[in-house]
Amino acid sequence: MANYDVIIIGGGPAGFTAGIYASRGGLKTILFTGAQPGGQAALTHKIENYSGVIDAEGFGLVSTMMEQASTFGCEISYASVTEVDFSGDEKKIVTDEGDYSAPTVIIATGAKNRLIGLENEEALIGQGVGFCATCDGGFFKDKPVAVNGGGDTALTEALYLSNICSEVYLIHRRQGFRAAQILVDRVRANEKIKLVLDSTVTKLNGKPLSSVEATNKVTGEVKEIKVDGLFVAIGNLPNTDIFKDKIELNQGGYIVTNEKMETNVKGVYAAGDVRVTPMRQVITACADGAIAANSVIEFLG
Ligand code: NAP
Repeated sequence: MANYDVIIIGGGPAGFTAGIYASRGGLKTILFTGAQPGGQAALTHKIENYSGVIDAEGFGLVSTMMEQASTFGCEISYASVTEVDFSGDEKKIVTDEGDYSAPTVIIATGAKNRLIGLENEEALIGQGVGFCATCDGGFFKDKPVAVNGGGDTALTEALYLSNICSEVYLIHRRQGFRAAQILVDRVRANEKIKLVLDSTVTKLNGKPLSSVEATNKVTGEVKEIKVDGLFVAIGNLPNTDIFKDKIELNQGGYIVTNEKMETNVKGVYAAGDVRVTPMRQVITACADGAIAANSVIEFLG
Protein backbone atom coordinates (compact mmCIF):
# COMPACT_ATOMS: atom_id res chain seq x y z
CA MET A 1 0.00 0.00 0.00
CA ALA A 2 1.44 3.32 -1.09
CA ASN A 3 1.59 5.98 1.62
CA TYR A 4 1.07 9.72 1.26
CA ASP A 5 0.57 12.77 3.50
CA VAL A 6 -2.68 13.59 1.78
CA ILE A 7 -4.95 11.91 -0.73
CA ILE A 8 -7.18 14.15 -2.83
CA ILE A 9 -10.24 12.54 -4.41
CA GLY A 10 -11.58 14.48 -7.40
CA GLY A 11 -10.04 16.23 -10.38
CA GLY A 12 -12.00 19.44 -10.77
CA PRO A 13 -11.08 23.01 -9.75
CA ALA A 14 -11.38 22.24 -6.00
CA GLY A 15 -9.21 19.11 -6.19
CA PHE A 16 -6.51 20.60 -8.41
CA THR A 17 -6.27 23.75 -6.30
CA ALA A 18 -5.95 21.60 -3.18
CA GLY A 19 -3.22 19.72 -5.08
CA ILE A 20 -1.37 22.95 -5.89
CA TYR A 21 -1.48 24.17 -2.27
CA ALA A 22 -0.70 20.80 -0.66
CA SER A 23 2.25 19.92 -2.89
CA ARG A 24 3.61 23.47 -2.86
CA GLY A 25 3.30 23.26 0.94
CA GLY A 26 5.68 20.28 0.90
CA LEU A 27 3.17 17.44 1.37
CA LYS A 28 3.52 14.14 -0.42
CA THR A 29 0.27 14.36 -2.37
CA ILE A 30 -1.66 12.12 -4.71
CA LEU A 31 -4.82 13.18 -6.53
CA PHE A 32 -7.30 10.76 -8.10
CA THR A 33 -9.18 12.27 -11.00
CA GLY A 34 -11.18 9.26 -12.14
CA ALA A 35 -11.32 8.44 -15.85
CA GLN A 36 -12.53 11.90 -16.93
CA PRO A 37 -10.57 14.69 -15.26
CA GLY A 38 -11.86 18.25 -15.15
CA GLY A 39 -15.24 17.93 -13.50
CA GLN A 40 -18.24 19.93 -14.61
CA ALA A 41 -16.21 23.10 -15.16
CA ALA A 42 -14.35 21.34 -17.99
CA LEU A 43 -17.67 20.97 -19.82
CA THR A 44 -18.39 24.70 -19.72
CA HIS A 45 -17.62 26.53 -22.92
CA LYS A 46 -17.35 29.97 -21.41
CA ILE A 47 -16.21 31.05 -17.96
CA GLU A 48 -16.21 34.81 -17.63
CA ASN A 49 -16.51 35.30 -13.87
CA TYR A 50 -13.24 33.73 -12.72
CA SER A 51 -11.22 36.73 -11.53
CA GLY A 52 -8.18 37.60 -13.58
CA VAL A 53 -9.31 35.65 -16.64
CA ILE A 54 -11.62 37.64 -18.86
CA ASP A 55 -12.96 34.83 -20.99
CA ALA A 56 -11.86 31.23 -20.51
CA GLU A 57 -12.94 27.96 -22.02
CA GLY A 58 -13.58 25.54 -19.13
CA PHE A 59 -11.49 22.61 -20.28
CA GLY A 60 -8.44 24.80 -20.91
CA LEU A 61 -8.73 26.48 -17.52
CA VAL A 62 -9.01 23.22 -15.58
CA SER A 63 -6.24 21.58 -17.65
CA THR A 64 -3.95 24.45 -16.63
CA MET A 65 -4.86 23.85 -12.97
CA MET A 66 -3.96 20.17 -13.38
CA GLU A 67 -0.62 21.03 -14.99
CA GLN A 68 0.06 23.56 -12.23
CA ALA A 69 -0.59 20.95 -9.50
CA SER A 70 1.69 18.52 -11.28
CA THR A 71 4.44 21.14 -11.58
CA PHE A 72 4.58 21.43 -7.80
CA GLY A 73 4.93 17.65 -7.43
CA CYS A 74 1.33 16.53 -6.98
CA GLU A 75 1.07 12.99 -8.29
CA ILE A 76 -1.95 12.61 -10.55
CA SER A 77 -3.71 9.30 -11.06
CA TYR A 78 -6.62 8.59 -13.42
CA ALA A 79 -7.79 5.76 -11.18
CA SER A 80 -11.30 5.80 -9.71
CA VAL A 81 -11.82 5.53 -5.97
CA THR A 82 -14.29 2.75 -5.23
CA GLU A 83 -14.20 2.48 -1.44
CA VAL A 84 -12.95 4.42 1.58
CA ASP A 85 -12.26 3.52 5.18
CA PHE A 86 -11.98 6.55 7.44
CA SER A 87 -12.26 4.62 10.72
CA GLY A 88 -8.61 4.74 11.80
CA ASP A 89 -5.95 7.45 12.03
CA GLU A 90 -4.58 6.20 8.71
CA LYS A 91 -7.32 6.67 6.09
CA LYS A 92 -7.56 3.87 3.55
CA ILE A 93 -8.59 4.33 -0.07
CA VAL A 94 -9.38 1.53 -2.50
CA THR A 95 -9.11 2.34 -6.20
CA ASP A 96 -9.49 0.30 -9.36
CA GLU A 97 -5.69 0.37 -9.58
CA GLY A 98 -4.70 -0.48 -6.01
CA ASP A 99 -4.92 0.62 -2.39
CA TYR A 100 -3.54 3.79 -0.83
CA SER A 101 -3.39 5.35 2.60
CA ALA A 102 -2.69 8.70 4.22
CA PRO A 103 -3.46 10.41 7.51
CA THR A 104 -5.56 12.99 5.64
CA VAL A 105 -8.02 13.00 2.74
CA ILE A 106 -9.58 15.89 0.82
CA ILE A 107 -12.83 15.01 -0.91
CA ALA A 108 -13.47 17.12 -4.01
CA THR A 109 -15.69 14.81 -6.03
CA GLY A 110 -18.10 17.53 -7.17
CA ALA A 111 -21.54 16.83 -8.53
CA LYS A 112 -23.27 15.14 -11.43
CA ASN A 113 -26.26 16.10 -13.58
CA ARG A 114 -29.75 15.61 -12.20
CA LEU A 115 -32.09 13.73 -14.55
CA ILE A 116 -35.67 14.80 -15.26
CA GLY A 117 -36.84 11.32 -14.30
CA LEU A 118 -38.65 10.37 -17.51
CA GLU A 119 -38.99 6.72 -18.39
CA ASN A 120 -36.87 6.66 -21.58
CA GLU A 121 -34.51 9.51 -20.60
CA GLU A 122 -31.44 7.40 -19.83
CA ALA A 123 -31.93 5.30 -22.96
CA LEU A 124 -31.89 8.50 -25.04
CA ILE A 125 -28.60 9.81 -23.64
CA GLY A 126 -26.40 10.12 -26.72
CA GLN A 127 -29.51 9.69 -28.89
CA GLY A 128 -30.63 13.29 -28.62
CA VAL A 129 -30.53 13.77 -24.87
CA GLY A 130 -27.35 15.36 -23.52
CA PHE A 131 -25.93 17.50 -20.73
CA CYS A 132 -23.08 19.38 -22.36
CA ALA A 133 -23.62 21.82 -25.22
CA THR A 134 -19.89 22.32 -25.69
CA CYS A 135 -19.41 18.58 -26.15
CA ASP A 136 -22.48 17.73 -28.24
CA GLY A 137 -23.81 21.01 -29.67
CA GLY A 138 -22.00 20.42 -32.95
CA PHE A 139 -24.24 17.41 -33.69
CA PHE A 140 -27.22 19.76 -33.92
CA LYS A 141 -25.93 22.31 -36.43
CA ASP A 142 -28.88 24.16 -38.02
CA LYS A 143 -31.34 21.92 -36.17
CA PRO A 144 -33.84 22.85 -33.45
CA VAL A 145 -32.96 21.90 -29.88
CA ALA A 146 -34.37 22.43 -26.39
CA VAL A 147 -32.68 23.20 -23.09
CA ASN A 148 -34.41 22.38 -19.82
CA GLY A 149 -33.68 24.48 -16.72
CA GLY A 150 -33.48 28.04 -15.50
CA GLY A 151 -30.11 28.27 -13.77
CA ASP A 152 -26.69 29.50 -14.92
CA THR A 153 -26.00 26.22 -16.72
CA ALA A 154 -29.25 26.20 -18.71
CA LEU A 155 -28.91 29.78 -19.85
CA THR A 156 -25.22 29.44 -20.70
CA GLU A 157 -26.01 26.31 -22.72
CA ALA A 158 -28.92 28.02 -24.51
CA LEU A 159 -26.73 30.97 -25.47
CA TYR A 160 -23.99 28.68 -26.75
CA LEU A 161 -26.43 26.58 -28.77
CA SER A 162 -28.02 29.69 -30.30
CA ASN A 163 -24.77 30.14 -32.26
CA ILE A 164 -25.05 26.67 -33.78
CA CYS A 165 -28.69 25.56 -33.92
CA SER A 166 -31.66 26.87 -35.90
CA GLU A 167 -33.81 27.43 -32.79
CA VAL A 168 -33.35 26.90 -29.08
CA TYR A 169 -36.41 26.31 -26.89
CA LEU A 170 -35.63 27.10 -23.27
CA ILE A 171 -38.09 25.16 -21.15
CA HIS A 172 -38.25 26.26 -17.53
CA ARG A 173 -40.70 25.38 -14.79
CA ARG A 174 -41.48 28.93 -13.67
CA GLN A 175 -41.37 32.55 -14.91
CA GLY A 176 -38.34 33.74 -12.91
CA PHE A 177 -34.82 32.51 -13.57
CA ARG A 178 -32.24 31.44 -11.04
CA ALA A 179 -29.39 32.41 -13.39
CA ALA A 180 -27.30 35.61 -13.16
CA GLN A 181 -29.17 38.66 -14.50
CA ILE A 182 -26.60 39.24 -17.25
CA LEU A 183 -27.39 35.81 -18.70
CA VAL A 184 -31.15 36.41 -18.40
CA ASP A 185 -30.77 39.70 -20.30
CA ARG A 186 -28.74 38.02 -23.04
CA VAL A 187 -31.23 35.19 -23.38
CA ARG A 188 -34.19 37.57 -23.57
CA ALA A 189 -32.41 39.61 -26.25
CA ASN A 190 -31.55 36.54 -28.33
CA GLU A 191 -34.02 36.06 -31.17
CA LYS A 192 -33.13 32.41 -31.65
CA ILE A 193 -34.05 31.48 -28.06
CA LYS A 194 -37.77 30.84 -27.53
CA LEU A 195 -38.90 30.80 -23.91
CA VAL A 196 -41.30 28.07 -22.84
CA LEU A 197 -42.01 29.09 -19.25
CA ASP A 198 -44.06 27.64 -16.39
CA SER A 199 -43.45 24.34 -18.15
CA THR A 200 -41.81 21.01 -17.52
CA VAL A 201 -40.68 18.37 -19.97
CA THR A 202 -43.17 15.54 -19.59
CA LYS A 203 -42.41 13.23 -22.51
CA LEU A 204 -39.59 12.40 -24.89
CA ASN A 205 -40.59 11.10 -28.32
CA GLY A 206 -38.61 9.11 -30.87
CA LYS A 207 -35.29 7.29 -30.79
CA PRO A 208 -33.27 9.22 -31.69
CA LEU A 209 -35.20 12.06 -30.12
CA SER A 210 -37.59 13.80 -32.53
CA SER A 211 -39.72 15.92 -30.20
CA VAL A 212 -40.39 16.72 -26.57
CA GLU A 213 -43.67 17.33 -24.82
CA ALA A 214 -43.81 20.39 -22.55
CA THR A 215 -46.67 20.75 -20.12
CA ASN A 216 -47.60 24.19 -18.85
CA LYS A 217 -48.11 23.85 -15.10
CA VAL A 218 -50.37 26.90 -14.92
CA THR A 219 -52.71 26.34 -17.88
CA GLY A 220 -52.32 22.58 -18.24
CA GLU A 221 -51.62 23.06 -21.95
CA VAL A 222 -49.50 20.31 -23.48
CA LYS A 223 -47.25 21.32 -26.37
CA GLU A 224 -45.22 19.08 -28.66
CA ILE A 225 -42.01 20.76 -29.70
CA LYS A 226 -40.07 19.27 -32.60
CA VAL A 227 -36.40 19.12 -31.64
CA ASP A 228 -33.46 16.89 -32.44
CA GLY A 229 -31.73 17.51 -29.14
CA LEU A 230 -32.59 18.14 -25.50
CA PHE A 231 -29.96 19.47 -23.12
CA VAL A 232 -30.93 18.75 -19.53
CA ALA A 233 -29.63 21.42 -17.13
CA ILE A 234 -31.84 21.13 -14.06
CA GLY A 235 -29.15 21.12 -11.42
CA ASN A 236 -26.85 18.65 -9.80
CA LEU A 237 -26.56 15.84 -7.31
CA PRO A 238 -23.43 15.39 -5.20
CA ASN A 239 -21.01 12.55 -5.93
CA THR A 240 -21.06 11.17 -2.42
CA ASP A 241 -22.31 7.59 -2.81
CA ILE A 242 -19.08 6.07 -1.49
CA PHE A 243 -19.07 8.39 1.55
CA LYS A 244 -22.53 7.47 2.87
CA ASP A 245 -22.28 6.36 6.51
CA LYS A 246 -18.59 7.37 6.54
CA ILE A 247 -18.98 11.12 7.09
CA GLU A 248 -21.82 13.52 7.81
CA LEU A 249 -23.96 14.43 4.80
CA ASN A 250 -26.96 16.74 4.73
CA GLN A 251 -30.39 15.65 3.52
CA GLY A 252 -29.44 16.36 -0.09
CA GLY A 253 -26.33 14.18 0.22
CA TYR A 254 -23.84 17.08 0.31
CA ILE A 255 -20.91 16.90 2.77
CA VAL A 256 -21.15 19.08 5.87
CA THR A 257 -17.98 21.03 6.67
CA ASN A 258 -16.96 23.97 8.79
CA GLU A 259 -15.17 27.03 7.41
CA LYS A 260 -11.82 25.19 7.51
CA MET A 261 -13.36 22.50 5.24
CA GLU A 262 -13.16 19.96 8.09
CA THR A 263 -15.80 17.23 8.04
CA ASN A 264 -17.00 15.50 11.21
CA VAL A 265 -14.19 12.93 10.79
CA LYS A 266 -10.74 14.06 11.97
CA GLY A 267 -8.33 14.19 9.04
CA VAL A 268 -11.06 14.22 6.37
CA TYR A 269 -11.86 17.45 4.53
CA ALA A 270 -14.20 18.39 1.69
CA ALA A 271 -14.01 21.16 -0.90
CA GLY A 272 -16.03 22.52 -3.82
CA ASP A 273 -19.47 21.58 -5.15
CA VAL A 274 -19.62 18.36 -3.12
CA ARG A 275 -19.99 20.21 0.17
CA VAL A 276 -22.82 22.24 1.65
CA THR A 277 -22.06 25.75 0.41
CA PRO A 278 -24.08 28.82 -0.55
CA MET A 279 -22.27 29.17 -3.90
CA ARG A 280 -21.07 26.66 -6.48
CA GLN A 281 -18.69 28.45 -8.82
CA VAL A 282 -15.19 27.66 -10.10
CA ILE A 283 -13.76 30.45 -8.00
CA THR A 284 -15.41 29.27 -4.77
CA ALA A 285 -14.38 25.67 -5.48
CA CYS A 286 -10.77 26.82 -5.88
CA ALA A 287 -10.96 28.81 -2.66
CA ASP A 288 -12.33 25.75 -0.85
CA GLY A 289 -9.48 23.64 -2.22
CA ALA A 290 -6.86 26.12 -1.00
CA ILE A 291 -8.45 26.29 2.47
CA ALA A 292 -8.73 22.49 2.71
CA ALA A 293 -5.04 22.03 1.81
CA ASN A 294 -4.02 24.69 4.30
CA SER A 295 -6.07 22.95 7.01
CA VAL A 296 -4.30 19.67 6.18
CA ILE A 297 -0.90 21.37 6.44
CA GLU A 298 -1.88 22.79 9.87
CA PHE A 299 -3.24 19.41 11.00
CA LEU A 300 -0.07 17.56 10.06
CA GLY A 301 1.97 20.22 11.83
P1 NAP B 1 -29.15 25.28 -10.43
O1 NAP B 1 -28.62 26.63 -10.17
O2 NAP B 1 -29.47 24.38 -9.28
O3 NAP B 1 -30.45 25.45 -11.33
C1 NAP B 1 -31.23 24.36 -11.68
C2 NAP B 1 -32.42 24.83 -12.50
O4 NAP B 1 -33.19 23.70 -12.86
C3 NAP B 1 -33.32 25.78 -11.73
O5 NAP B 1 -33.79 26.79 -12.58
C4 NAP B 1 -34.45 24.86 -11.26
O6 NAP B 1 -35.70 25.51 -11.23
C5 NAP B 1 -34.51 23.83 -12.36
N1 NAP B 1 -34.93 22.53 -11.85
C6 NAP B 1 -34.46 21.84 -10.77
N2 NAP B 1 -35.06 20.65 -10.65
C7 NAP B 1 -35.94 20.58 -11.67
C8 NAP B 1 -36.84 19.58 -12.09
N3 NAP B 1 -36.97 18.41 -11.43
N4 NAP B 1 -37.59 19.82 -13.20
C9 NAP B 1 -37.46 20.99 -13.87
N5 NAP B 1 -36.61 21.96 -13.53
C10 NAP B 1 -35.85 21.76 -12.43
O7 NAP B 1 -28.17 24.40 -11.36
P2 NAP B 1 -27.10 24.85 -12.45
O8 NAP B 1 -27.64 25.88 -13.35
O9 NAP B 1 -26.57 23.61 -13.04
O10 NAP B 1 -25.96 25.50 -11.59
C11 NAP B 1 -25.30 24.74 -10.56
C12 NAP B 1 -24.29 25.63 -9.86
O11 NAP B 1 -23.23 25.93 -10.75
C13 NAP B 1 -24.90 26.96 -9.44
O12 NAP B 1 -24.34 27.33 -8.22
C14 NAP B 1 -24.49 27.90 -10.54
O13 NAP B 1 -24.40 29.24 -10.12
C15 NAP B 1 -23.14 27.32 -10.91
N6 NAP B 1 -22.81 27.65 -12.32
C16 NAP B 1 -22.18 28.83 -12.54
C17 NAP B 1 -21.87 29.20 -13.82
C18 NAP B 1 -21.19 30.50 -14.03
O14 NAP B 1 -21.15 31.31 -13.14
N7 NAP B 1 -20.61 30.78 -15.17
C19 NAP B 1 -22.19 28.39 -14.90
C20 NAP B 1 -22.86 27.20 -14.64
C21 NAP B 1 -23.16 26.85 -13.34
P3 NAP B 1 -36.03 26.60 -10.09
O15 NAP B 1 -35.24 27.80 -10.45
O16 NAP B 1 -37.49 26.75 -10.20
O17 NAP B 1 -35.62 25.95 -8.80
